[in-house]
Amino acid sequence: MIVDTSVSMALKNEFGKYDIKGMNLFKIEETNSLFKSVKLKLKNKNTVMVQLKCPLCGKLHAFNYCVSNIVNQEIIVCGCKTLGIPVLFIGEDKKIRQRVMQYNKAIKEIYAIF
Ligand SMILES: [Zn+2]
Repeated sequence: MIVDTSVSMALKNEFGKYDIKGMNLFKIEETNSLFKSVKLKLKNKNTVMVQLKCPLCGKLHAFNYCVSNIVNQEIIVCGCKTLGIPVLFIGEDKKIRQRVMQYNKAIKEIYAIF
């Protein structure tokens, strides 16, 4: 079986939009240079810790995930623990782009009201 490692990470920026960057699951350390506010660390063979300096509340949020879940094409959502708003998505590139498109569209519509 060929494991597709075309994985992307999308992070909400201070304007409420998501920036998407590609990452390699097998080079987790390189991921840390993508976003200044996101740090990924392998805790053991199958657990990755995501540390997020939250763009919404300014606090540091930490999450633990199974690497196999990401490989199995589940989308990981890291949200602000204070506000309960999704901030960071990690998952298959195509799915991430679809998800972000929906969110960016929703944001546009909210702004259109004002
Ligand atoms: Zn937060």
